[in-house]
Amino acid sequence: MANFQYDLLVIGAGPAGESAAISAKKNNLRVAVVDGQASLGGNCAHKGTIPSKALRNAVKQAIRMSNQPFAKRMMLHQELNYPQILAAVNDIIPKQVELHSEYFIRNKIPIFNGFAHFVNKNEVEIAGPHGLKDRVTAENILVATGSRPYRPSNIDFNHPRVFDSDTILQMNTTPSTIVIFGAGVIGCEYASIFAGLGLKVDLINSRDRLLSFLDDEISDALSYHLRSSGVMVRHSEIFENAEYSDKGVTVHLRSGKHISADALLWSNGRSGNTDALNLEAVGLAADSRGQLKVDQSYRTETPNIYAAGDVIGWPSLASASFDQGRSVVDAILGREVRFVEDAPTGIYTIPEISSVGKTESELTAAKVPYEVGRAFFKDTARGQISGEDEGMLKLLFHNQTREILGIHCFGAEASEIIHIGQAIMQQAEGANTIDYFVNSTFNYPTMAEAYRIAALNGINRLMRMR
Ligand SMILES: Cc1cc2nc3c(=O)[nH]c(=O)nc-3n(C[C@H](O)[C@H](O)[C@H](O)COP(=O)(O)OP(=O)(O)OC[C@H]3O[C@@H](n4cnc5c(N)ncnc54)[C@H](O)[C@@H]3O)c2cc1C
Repeated sequence: MANFQYDLLVIGAGPAGESAAISAKKNNLRVAVVDGQASLGGNCAHKGTIPSKALRNAVKQAIRMSNQPFAKRMMLHQELNYPQILAAVNDIIPKQVELHSEYFIRNKIPIFNGFAHFVNKNEVEIAGPHGLKDRVTAENILVATGSRPYRPSNIDFNHPRVFDSDTILQMNTTPSTIVIFGAGVIGCEYASIFAGLGLKVDLINSRDRLLSFLDDEISDALSYHLRSSGVMVRHSEIFENAEYSDKGVTVHLRSGKHISADALLWSNGRSGNTDALNLEAVGLAADSRGQLKVDQSYRTETPNIYAAGDVIGWPSLASASFDQGRSVVDAILGREVRFVEDAPTGIYTIPEISSVGKTESELTAAKVPYEVGRAFFKDTARGQISGEDEGMLKLLFHNQTREILGIHCFGAEASEIIHIGQAIMQQAEGANTIDYFVNSTFNYPTMAEAYRIAALNGINRLMRMR
């Protein structure tokens, strides 16, 4: 039998790689991690989830402050600029790096700093800093190399006014106008951030509605709120080309529109980080988006090589990546594997959005008889007190069994509120109904009250139908 240095070598120290490494260690596997970045945390901590949420939080706080009656009375209005709010990012990243480094140190997991590529299915070469090279062997290898913004060749990303979701974190000016091409989750989140800062934003969508995987009512609410905060949303547009000058960028659309702005943020798609892995050496090939195909155990077509996180595509969330990483170790240990399919959606626009389960369109298409219960945040005491009263909680439930089928939330703290309902949805048959919210006493005043109001609203509607 071959004598490998490790039972598992993890390539990439983002959420998927980190959780796999820690789980492997806890299960007494010999594990090591290799990452190309000098500090830990993955793209999640350096370029994705964490910096974008820190930016959003800084803008949200500024909006909240400027809406306070005392601030208005005392004319405490301060114009925020982008470099100022970027300071919030520069504060959080070192804290995140320290936190993640501690996880590795505490668990005594060796880290190799450098970019890895396959030599064969059990051996990886690591190109470290200063030209140093290392070779490591392992019985199993996990590819958790994440993704990066997709950069089409007809956009000049070297131009100082052109950004993607990585380089926007280095923009050192505050444009007055910005055009965002790509209205996926990242585009919508940045549209909220820039509109909150007072920029004029053009958000260009290649589809006919925003985030079409959401429940229609929630997608409509997002469109309404983005528009009312000054974002010009343009649907069904196709990019033709762009012109650049010292002052900004003009985007030409196939529809004949020409949209000029001080800056362009391109947020249209992502590519898996697989091109430098020398996949041919292990009999693998990535698809056109650089992603790897896996089975329900996160195993690639080469059985000792696994893949998890953004590199396998949907849902491409840090939340799911953490769970996938742990599942890989279960697969290696021959345990039952949880294939992560039920991740809730958390979208940090202003206000935020979260959902879990089916949408109305999906239930209608599947001919599932359902009813709807709604609660508006303005009708909750907590919403009124906090002043964050724009929002809605919507429960979809089976009109006979009352089983909860979908939960859709729009408004402050939506991504937290969703978890109350998610926990009930996952109970055994009979316990996963909207009756839980009517028969349980919630703290008051809380946003959880919205569940009781929505459940009663749904039950009343059911009774009217009889
Ligand atoms: C702007 C933005 C906002 C986001 N917001 C959210 C959010 O709110 N919630 C959420 O759940 N998700 C969010 N995401 C998605 C989330 O960041 C990703 O799903 C998550 O980071 C994926 O984790 P991962 O483990 O696959 O790898 P990553 O975090 O991408 O890390 C991969 C690591 O692998 C390393 N690597 C790559 N190639 C090699 C190589 N050959 N050798 C060695 N190391 C290598 C990289 O240096 C990197 O450190 C956001 C993403 C973006 C871009």
